[in-house]
Amino acid sequence: MKFVYDFAEGNKDLKDLLGGKGANLAEMTNLGLPVPPGFTITTQACQQYLRNGTHVDGLGAEIDEHLAALESKMGRRLGDPADPLLVSVRSGAKFSMPGMMETVLNVGLNDASVDGLSRQAGGNDRFAWDSYRRLIQMFGKTVCEVPGHEFEDALHDAKVAKGVKDDVQLDADDLRALVTAYKKVFVKHTGHEFPQDPREQLDLAVEAVFRSWNADRAVLYRRQERIPADLGTAVNVVAMVFGNLGADSGTGVAFTRDPASGEQGVYGDYLSNAQGEDVVAGIRNTLPLADLERLDKRSYDELMQIMATLEGHYRDLCDIEFTIERGKLWMLQTRVGKRTAAAAFTIAAQLVDEGVIDLDEALTRVTGGQLAQLMFPRFDLSSSPDSLTRGVGASPGAAFGQVVFTSARAVEVAASGTPVILVRRETNPDDLPGMIAANGILTSRGGKTSHAAVVARGMGKTCVCGADEMEVGRDSFTIGSHTVREGETISIDGTTGRVYLGEVAVRPSEVVQYFEGDLDPSQANDPLVAAVHRIITHADDQRRLKVRTNADTGLDAARARRFGAQGIGLCRTEHMFLGDRRELVERLILARSEAERNEALAALQPLQRADFLDIFREMNGLPVTIRLIDPPLHEFLPSLEELAVKVAVAHEHGQSVEHDEQLLAAVRRMHEQNPMLGLRGVRLGLVIPGLFAMQVRAIAEAAVALAAEGGKPRPEIMVPLVGAVQELETVRAEAEKIIDAIVGDSGVEVLIGTMIEVPRAALTAGQIAEAAEFFSFGTNDLTQMAWGFSRDDVEGAFFWRYLELGIFGISPFESIDADGVGRLVRIATEEGRAARPGLKLGVCGEHGGDPDSVHFFHEVGLDYVSCSPFRVPIARIEAGRAAV
Ligand code: ADP
Ligand code: MG
Ligand code: MG
Repeated sequence: MKFVYDFAEGNKDLKDLLGGKGANLAEMTNLGLPVPPGFTITTQACQQYLRNGTHVDGLGAEIDEHLAALESKMGRRLGDPADPLLVSVRSGAKFSMPGMMETVLNVGLNDASVDGLSRQAGGNDRFAWDSYRRLIQMFGKTVCEVPGHEFEDALHDAKVAKGVKDDVQLDADDLRALVTAYKKVFVKHTGHEFPQDPREQLDLAVEAVFRSWNADRAVLYRRQERIPADLGTAVNVVAMVFGNLGADSGTGVAFTRDPASGEQGVYGDYLSNAQGEDVVAGIRNTLPLADLERLDKRSYDELMQIMATLEGHYRDLCDIEFTIERGKLWMLQTRVGKRTAAAAFTIAAQLVDEGVIDLDEALTRVTGGQLAQLMFPRFDLSSSPDSLTRGVGASPGAAFGQVVFTSARAVEVAASGTPVILVRRETNPDDLPGMIAANGILTSRGGKTSHAAVVARGMGKTCVCGADEMEVGRDSFTIGSHTVREGETISIDGTTGRVYLGEVAVRPSEVVQYFEGDLDPSQANDPLVAAVHRIITHADDQRRLKVRTNADTGLDAARARRFGAQGIGLCRTEHMFLGDRRELVERLILARSEAERNEALAALQPLQRADFLDIFREMNGLPVTIRLIDPPLHEFLPSLEELAVKVAVAHEHGQSVEHDEQLLAAVRRMHEQNPMLGLRGVRLGLVIPGLFAMQVRAIAEAAVALAAEGGKPRPEIMVPLVGAVQELETVRAEAEKIIDAIVGDSGVEVLIGTMIEVPRAALTAGQIAEAAEFFSFGTNDLTQMAWGFSRDDVEGAFFWRYLELGIFGISPFESIDADGVGRLVRIATEEGRAARPGLKLGVCGEHGGDPDSVHFFHEVGLDYVSCSPFRVPIARIEAGRAAV
């Protein structure tokens, strides 16, 4: 197996093997762009190292070979005391994990080569010692797990001793002294000296990068982002170039378009006389990239040209890391850039306008998850909230919460259900748990490319960064004379960067207004609304899957229809038994004679009919699937404990409570150990005479009533929890009689079908299809019964452990388990259609609105998915994406 690739051997499509960074460095090298030479150690080497826990056979020899080639290309030997070659050792996985893993710069420096480096730089001692101290710091932290703050404290002390504020104000002697201090820190924590052998430094750094794949924060990040745990990282060894050689040097990051809005222009940050991570870490405040034109026009022009080349080549927004060494520009990284949800849509539409991509490809450049983010509400500023300050809008959204200052505190307060805003000077990967727990993130330093900004955008979390008027302390922050303490509430706007005191009211997003029909996309001067309109319209043209909604009221039905629903896939009737109607259900349950029961049912029927008529009206012309009552009836009765206490207390006071006593007896009688596996669904219909009949009558009468008004009702009666065709046949025979009697020659057509949610139903779908005109997969119950997981209990009880062990990467209740539950869906689809060609097939579980599941249902060949009204646009986009 080949473990090492020269940059010239790779290309951008080899991300699996070379990681994103390595693949793109190779691509840039082959485009003839100025990339410092180097090579990439593959992810396979990493996987092997992590499996064995040590040493990978043959890797050392391959590194020797490529290092020798690199040395001869550069005309310098690694760590040569006279004229040293230095390299960086950089992590780079298939998926970008910003700041999660490790990089060591300046490898090859030691007590001897530091002088050689100084001579190389024309006698620049300061630079050489600064590079050396950075190596010990990064190497110590990354390779030997020396606590980073020890180095930071030593640096801080050096600055205080000298009475200066900035690193750049330390001179060569100060830095030489700092190296001595750093070495002491190193020995104290590791028990041995800082390694002087350059090749040993290189090997140790490579292994440390391998190991960083399994660092806690990397593991957490992968889980959050659903990145598989076994990919491993590649390692890039790159000849060093120096941005810290003086005023004619520097380092920066750039985007070919604004990653927040998608607008074209010059976006990025530049820091002169600095190395690598200084920009990203927000150590010093950066200059806008546009200022580089003034500082170094030649490099600026070349960079602009390279950016145009990269956009043209990748046909998408790229982000870039570059360094200028004494007026010579070097490209250190590029990739198709992360972006906000809004930018994803606007950039895709712009690229279509520019003729770079077509609409099909535009559709692949956005996701339903991004659309979901755009449907979040925004702040309503008409109440003129108190503006505290303004930073950079780094990740959109409107968030409020109690101010907290540490990651741990954020986790703690959020766990009690209180929304929090995590406020930090800057964030680092250790803050990840707090960032996940927080509603929003606010920092005083760093730009759109800071750790806080990048990670928040990835998580879809509201973030404002670089609010530099803010002085962040331990348990408060101040802006001028105003102090905000921990526990006070603030609101942050991740689009505008504004920070407000108190909780600001929110208003719906423009995208939701557009879906509501309140914004005309052709007139909207908002390019985002126009882009969403264009792309979702194309998704509608391309998709094969229809999208219906789950709705129980006319109001929900109407909204879902505005959002593009093509019918109702699940109308739950049990919600219609709640509220004042609970009493009628009690009467039904307590009925002692047929007459009493019929009376209770007769009272319920007109109420149900009115509900159905309302819904049919709103969905006029579109199919409406109504599920007959599903949950165990005792769900409509008071709880056993409460009732028992009430009755006992009444007895104590010598009161007579006959009704409550009867109720209590009924509750006791109906108690079940496993209600979800008990008397519910079709079983209720078979056991309680007249219940289903009442519902069927109400449906048929409502349909006839709408037809009489000139409407076109399309009712579909769905029987829940069927496991055997005989159950369905029994219900069907009764229902057909009732329907025939009511419908007459009104022209109304009523379909009868079933849910497929018991595994046995899926496995005998061929038989069941004989009695069903449609199937709707109830994937919640199907998942629950296929796995034997109680949906209401498992999440909190032990799913975390299953996720940790990788038994599944995501809860099977969130995204369909394609291998197991999905196989049941496939079997039922094939056998159902074989028995009854033209059988209508849909899905009505939560999965109907989950992007990955929508792709699965498309591929299996269902006719529609059904989801909650707000997920309808998301399902439309994803069904379109699945089809192109
Ligand atoms: P990350 O993936 O966290 O961005 P990188 O591997 O890109 O880590 O490196 C961290 C920083 O060091 C970046 O700013 C990068 O540009 C800089 N850097 C990496 N390699 C070199 C090099 N050979 N010469 C100069 N700077 C480098
Ligand atoms: Mg980088
Ligand atoms: Mg169910």
